[in-house]
Amino acid sequence: MRNTRTTRRPLLREREKQRQRTQLTGPRIRCPLCEWRPSAEDLWGCLCGHAWHTFDTGGICPSCLHQWKVTQCHSCNGWPAHSDWYEY
Ligand SMILES: [Zn+2]
Ligand SMILES: [Zn+2]
Repeated sequence: MRNTRTTRRPLLREREKQRQRTQLTGPRIRCPLCEWRPSAEDLWGCLCGHAWHTFDTGGICPSCLHQWKVTQCHSCNGWPAHSDWYEY
């Protein structure tokens, strides 16, 4: 019975870590056209075929180093400027 108590604690800690991770990429980024907010799992594809989370790198493809000045919204399919996605 003691074992169940000790195994619960590390699980809770990992959940807190995950929550902090999503908060880093979540709240301050949203589509300027439709207010859609990308999650940490969303990926964008580059012309070179690489897929990555574009807000992790400020719109730069880590594979071919192309800088994307615009970022497609997965919700409204618009192409707003990358800098417009950040809330201040
Ligand atoms: Zn949108
Ligand atoms: Zn690329």
